[in-house]
Amino acid sequence: MTLRFIRPETVREAMEVLHEHKDNSKIVAGATDVMVQRRSEKPVEEKPLLLVDITGISELSYVNFQNGIVRIGAMITHRDIARSAVIHDVAPFFADACLSVGSPQIRTRGTIGGNIVNASPAADSLPPLTALSARLRLISRRGSRDVALCDFFKGPYKTIIEPDEILKEVYFRAPEPSSRCAFLKLGRRESLAIARLSVAALIDVDDSGKISKAAIAPGACLPMPARIAPAEEALVGKIPDEEVVNSASQEVGEEMVRVSGVRWSTEYKKPVACALTKRAIWKALGVDVD
Ligand SMILES: Cc1cc2nc3c(=O)[nH]c(=O)nc-3n(C[C@H](O)[C@H](O)[C@H](O)COP(=O)(O)OP(=O)(O)OC[C@H]3O[C@@H](n4cnc5c(N)ncnc54)[C@H](O)[C@@H]3O)c2cc1C
Repeated sequence: MTLRFIRPETVREAMEVLHEHKDNSKIVAGATDVMVQRRSEKPVEEKPLLLVDITGISELSYVNFQNGIVRIGAMITHRDIARSAVIHDVAPFFADACLSVGSPQIRTRGTIGGNIVNASPAADSLPPLTALSARLRLISRRGSRDVALCDFFKGPYKTIIEPDEILKEVYFRAPEPSSRCAFLKLGRRESLAIARLSVAALIDVDDSGKISKAAIAPGACLPMPARIAPAEEALVGKIPDEEVVNSASQEVGEEMVRVSGVRWSTEYKKPVACALTKRAIWKALGVDVD
């Protein structure tokens, strides 16, 4: 199939192109996933005819913080997020997650929009965004719609985005200034490693020392991003101690097996999911454990 390439400079232009070519076009942002997929011997999709390069659309590059809402344009790169003063201030675990992506080269090319739309279960931005209850704005010539991040995914590498739609931005309400957070990732190497497991924890402790809010979102162990309600319920209303944190962490391992079933890797992955969650919760609470 012949490949054609177009580089719109405005969102409106991109929407027109995608509308006209919705049956045979594909958006390209940093291309760090698209190129790998296209080179693979077993492509995950049919080869597209028209590549729509959106890197020239400056309207999609912004980080705004207004009225308590953080909005991040889809073309913002992992490097931008890792260096953003706003993100460091309101959600430092999200900055940590983006800093853990690939290598400096990948972080400089790879965008938050591409990481979300690619929908890899191991994508590093997804656990913190899930813990933050982030939402997405999708736009097309037909209009715009907002969806919760968790409702965006249909399965590994599958989303509800329509061929004529562009992910414009991801947004979330800034957590309470008193909240604490942590992101931990386990890979095969220290750098350039896709997550074997990751965990994002966002926790609020009230004046009496009890946990008043908790969001626990693991990565690379479920087909789609999700918060683990039983783990959160095991924390809320309790003063965090070893028993409370252990039982919450256990729930993450249990949920992984409930959703994904017992696999060859479960013997290793289940205890590691529990241990990583335990560390993430303690780290969020300001305690470093081995
Ligand atoms: C060597 C290497 C190491 C990596 N390491 C990691 C890692 O550690 N952690 C991690 O999470 N990922 C990693 N990745 C994956 C990749 O870099 C990220 O997923 C990156 O964020 C993808 O962004 P992109 O801009 O390159 O997306 P692209 O490759 O351009 O696009 C990815 C998908 O998203 C779609 N898309 C992109 N932007 C939009 C938009 N605005 N609207 C609609 N659709 C859109 C594209 O059509 C495509 O389907 C790695 C990749 C490589 C090659």
